[in-house]
Amino acid sequence: MGRKFFVGGNWKCNGTTEEVKKIVSTLNEAEVPSGDVVEVVVSPPFVFLPLVKSTLRPDFHVSAQNCWVKKGGAYTGEISAEMLVNLSIPWVILGHSERRLILSEANEFVADKVAYALAQGLKVIACVGETLEQRESGSTMEVVAAQTKAIAEKVSKWSDVVLAYEPVWAIGTGKVATPAQAQEVHFELRKWLKENVSAEVAETTRIIYGGSVNGANCKILATQPDVDGFLVGGASLKAEFVDIIKSAT
Ligand code: PEP
Repeated sequence: MGRKFFVGGNWKCNGTTEEVKKIVSTLNEAEVPSGDVVEVVVSPPFVFLPLVKSTLRPDFHVSAQNCWVKKGGAYTGEISAEMLVNLSIPWVILGHSERRLILSEANEFVADKVAYALAQGLKVIACVGETLEQRESGSTMEVVAAQTKAIAEKVSKWSDVVLAYEPVWAIGTGKVATPAQAQEVHFELRKWLKENVSAEVAETTRIIYGGSVNGANCKILATQPDVDGFLVGGASLKAEFVDIIKSAT
């Protein structure tokens, strides 16, 4: 199968310089499986990217949490993909549900961001996921397929994309999806990729799970055949992030 396990840490809008230094030092001292087994990517707030980039161990990588939809210019408050490339930041998270819901980022807008970031040479963690209301009304697959379709139509290089399935009801709530719930959606997403993109893309694209993953629940989730890793929010700020990285083996 050969999909390398992927563990992303989304620090969201958290941290002071001192706290960031502490997290980096915990990660730098951690004994984890080698980079052949697990790809680790941490995503600090923009202002800490240079600090983390220059102090984090070289086998872990750095991601931004967002970037602008096109070339930079008169877009107050935005950060362009070119700036991330200029800082040698290899990854960016796009389409996180907090941005989709709080900042009204629509499927098309997210897809345009993905297209532009990929065109600039960034690798993308593209997030999809349903709300509780959508799950309860039975439209989970319809919602995540529509989000994935918008992105897929604009992806130029699938090897630079990791798809993150993050049910909104599980993010920051402590209410993690069961292994069966995660596996079911990941299986369906892979099937969707096979039918709508290609068998090769379906086989090789990492589909990672996010939503209240922690040191205690990661092991069982990691055993699911279509779960290729995690996007971790709250627990990525704590020492247990190391245990989550270790769930790769
Ligand atoms: C996230 O923000 O991507 C996330 C999964 O958060 P948490 O792990 O805190 O639920």
